[in-house]
Amino acid sequence: MKRQIPIPVSGGLILSYKCSAGCRHCIYACSQKWNADWISEEDLEKILSGLAGKIIPSPYGSKAVSLSHGLHFTGGEPFLNFELLLKAVEIAHELKIPSTFVETNCFWAVNDKSTKEKLSLLKSKGLRGIMISVNPFYLEYVPFERTERAIRISLEVFGQNTMVYQLEYYRRFKRLGLTGTVPFNEYLKLEKKGDFLRNTEFFLMGRAPYNLKGILKEVFPRYKAKHLFKEPCMPPFLRQWHNHFDNYGNYMPGFCGGISLGDCRNLEALLKEGIDTEEHPVLGFLMDEDLEGLFRFAEDMGYQEHPEGYFSKCHLCTDLRRHLALKGQFKELSPREFYEHLE
Ligand code: SF4
Ligand code: SF4
Repeated sequence: MKRQIPIPVSGGLILSYKCSAGCRHCIYACSQKWNADWISEEDLEKILSGLAGKIIPSPYGSKAVSLSHGLHFTGGEPFLNFELLLKAVEIAHELKIPSTFVETNCFWAVNDKSTKEKLSLLKSKGLRGIMISVNPFYLEYVPFERTERAIRISLEVFGQNTMVYQLEYYRRFKRLGLTGTVPFNEYLKLEKKGDFLRNTEFFLMGRAPYNLKGILKEVFPRYKAKHLFKEPCMPPFLRQWHNHFDNYGNYMPGFCGGISLGDCRNLEALLKEGIDTEEHPVLGFLMDEDLEGLFRFAEDMGYQEHPEGYFSKCHLCTDLRRHLALKGQFKELSPREFYEHLE
């Protein structure tokens, strides 16, 4: 059966999954271990041309930014290949893609001069804003002084188009007087037990259920698979806003790492033709929101339910997909390396 896929109106372009960090909660399982595999200029042109005219601006206008509008450049860590980031910004600007911003962990903000130069150059090429990551997971890799520097200088360069995600952690780190990098286990000693997620947004998907299992089981219950079968995807798996496009040409739905709706280098054809769910059985199950079907399918291929249970529907979904991806050839489970870098 053919199924239509959503016309994207906002999202992120992953330049590479390679990152200077390897955060325990990363929803795309990025790290230093990935091959760089930076997106080629040819694919940049193809993907951005396909998105031009579809991406909608922030409600405050095309020169403003907001999380689920416009287009952001991300990774991995896009500043690892600054020349490519500049090129992507330039092409997007020429194509009049509105509300563009870059997402970064700020590892590169080593002094005021080079930080200002980089941000000013990006702005001069047409970038509208920046989103700076702040949380206890990236803090294991990036000294907090660099984050503070990047925020201070971003405010000079981009003004109110500077987003800090998440501000709650920034306030806490300031209150705690943190400097340098802080190992996660040390950070936990500074918070009351289980408090590290208080008043913050946290996705129980991607790497987190694997890499943070020890600490999460003190905070969250775990469920048998059958109790998660009927849970809806939150936010919906198929939607127009905040989808992702990666360096391998995958059109990734929402935040669902390791799932490909097809080749975004030829977006028009993909949107026109839709997806054949017989050729892409995993997508067929997910589109029908039938996680039980996917569970039985994986069981037939040797999957065994974890006796200790799952933190969330996304945890179960990822675990089933990981089993299938490492067992067989499923075009829709891409990139395969996502499944190899979860732990
Ligand atoms: S969460 Fe961000 S900084 Fe951390 S590994 Fe993933 S892409 Fe890198
Ligand atoms: S359950 Fe699977 S398809 Fe649904 S949001 Fe989570 S990872 Fe995506």
